[in-house]
Amino acid sequence: MTTETLNFQAETAKLLHIVANALYSEKEIFLRELISNASDACDKLRYAALTNASLMADDAELQVTLTVDADAKTLTIADNGIGMSRDELIENLGTIARSGTSNFMEQLTGDDSKDVALIGQFGVGFYSGFVVSESVDVTSHRAGEDQAWTWSSDGLGEFTIAEAEQASRGTSITLHLKDEEGEFLEAHRLRSVVKRYSDHIAIPVILTAIAADPVEEGSEDDAAEEPQDEKLNEASALWARNKSDIKKEQYTEFYHHVAHAFDEPWSTVHVRAEGKIEYTMLLFIPGTPPFDLFHPDRASKLKLYVKRVFITDDCENLIPSYLRFLRGVVDCEDLPLNVSRELLQNSPVLNHIKNALTKRILSDLEKKATKKPEDYAVFWKNFGAVMKEGIYEDFEQRERLMKLARFTSTTQGDALVSLEDYVSRMKDKQTEIYYATGDDIEMVRKSPQLEGYAARGIEVLLMTDAVDDFWVRSVTDFDGKPLKSVTQGGTDLNDIAPEENTEDKPEAAPEGDTSSLIVLLKQELGDAVKDVRTTDRLAESPVCLVADEADIDINLAKLLKAQGQELPPSSRILEINPRHDLIKSLAKAATDAGATDRLADAAHLLLDQARILEGDPVPDPAAFARRLSQAMSAKFG
Ligand code: ADP
Repeated sequence: MTTETLNFQAETAKLLHIVANALYSEKEIFLRELISNASDACDKLRYAALTNASLMADDAELQVTLTVDADAKTLTIADNGIGMSRDELIENLGTIARSGTSNFMEQLTGDDSKDVALIGQFGVGFYSGFVVSESVDVTSHRAGEDQAWTWSSDGLGEFTIAEAEQASRGTSITLHLKDEEGEFLEAHRLRSVVKRYSDHIAIPVILTAIAADPVEEGSEDDAAEEPQDEKLNEASALWARNKSDIKKEQYTEFYHHVAHAFDEPWSTVHVRAEGKIEYTMLLFIPGTPPFDLFHPDRASKLKLYVKRVFITDDCENLIPSYLRFLRGVVDCEDLPLNVSRELLQNSPVLNHIKNALTKRILSDLEKKATKKPEDYAVFWKNFGAVMKEGIYEDFEQRERLMKLARFTSTTQGDALVSLEDYVSRMKDKQTEIYYATGDDIEMVRKSPQLEGYAARGIEVLLMTDAVDDFWVRSVTDFDGKPLKSVTQGGTDLNDIAPEENTEDKPEAAPEGDTSSLIVLLKQELGDAVKDVRTTDRLAESPVCLVADEADIDINLAKLLKAQGQELPPSSRILEINPRHDLIKSLAKAATDAGATDRLADAAHLLLDQARILEGDPVPDPAAFARRLSQAMSAKFG
């Protein structure tokens, strides 16, 4: 028999090391993770056997067994589930094929306490076995195959794979426990860990007959009583039990199992629907965002069961993708057990469930938003960016989703505000809802385009999620009020709210004063700008750039460019602040004959300044530096 030695994928070795260290204080969860995998493997077998009954053969009682060998200091977790072929052992245990892994690895800090939380979102799974073990042997026999294989490793860098003798289907994982982990050889310890973390597992978890519990001396029947196998868990699907029989901790542990998560769920929804279509849903909104929330496949992780039989955790039609953060189970009574992928895709039953589920989740969120706004703010910070995708994807729920949306605003500090709040505070003649978009909230707050609104006390919503630039374009209005970007199109702020403290501020420059300057700027800047005009959107800054009403808004254009999209060339409008001292002096200078030459450099400096404020590159940095130096020399030289 040959033994092959292979190396772990570099990322796996790193993850293994981090898991082993970071999880030390919660080491007992290895048992939950291995039992969870065993139960998933049984689910897969049961599903595969629906179309190929021979896979089940005469071994139809699916279960997980725990066996202790106190002399050898081993604990074996075995299942009679689907098993793994040689290639699957290598692929599943030697590499991390999961989507988003590299992104996850980049987020690791090396600080154990922070990394534990991150690992929780990623799911530690199988590797947690190494927290308590010197080495691990996995012997597996894939259902329907002839040969079994053993994978072995000390978790340091290599693993071996060799042919094995194991006639029965399934996987058995033998942990060679470290000297100090003897507690996991004791029946009472195993009993309590399984009860605590794995009670909800739908198949029995059996502690095989062991003599680990010392028989009390002098006990009458110590010779007569043979040790018995012992079922450690309830072994019925948690979601099928009565709500009143389920404790909060049981829900949490079930969530840890289905979601491969470590955190507390933010909310739990357990509903049994009876009527035309019968189904049960047990759904969780995670307490922290899963690491792959923004993975491009936007896949749902909800598990679909039919009459307690696991069908798939990759069902596009079960929830809208803007609710993809949901974890849990939907168990339907009204689908055939051998339901095919095609059938799932067009199933009216699933459609019905999807609609009902969406409505239920939204109405729960509405209640939370009204009754517990602070709690709701936590949810929104975690998942708001995903929910907003629904505003442009789900026409039917658009109105509700817009009401559920929360934003930072220029007048409310760090508090989150709703569109309804905003509308209730709108100024008398204000007809539009103003917003500004960008990457970073502090940058957006400093946008020069906001100055004129701030000076007049007009509230502006600040949006920093990539999705914001898209949904705002897809809606026409909220409550009859159109949404309007502060970096696009013209403004009439003076009509809405006259400037506050007008006595302290210089009067608006009369029209005409800036006209020579505008002509000159247009001449000098040529195609670099689409137009030059005065604005009331600025207060302290002399200039800014805005997009024309018909063009793509400034931040959206940046986003699309960053994604590598070709955009039609569209230059920006340069707006000047007629109340600013610099603009006033330039306007005065522009009326002199022969001003053209003197003002040429100033024109370019103004435009470059506006670009810098926008975070845009200056196209000719050398020319910019020369002009700036000259301007400074004129002052100090
Ligand atoms: P996860 O369970 O989060 O996918 P793991 O590292 O725990 O990650 O497991 C990796 C993969 O190995 C699983 O997705 C599964 O395909 C396979 N696996 C693990 N344990 C078993 C088992 N007992 N039986 C069959 N396959 C298993």
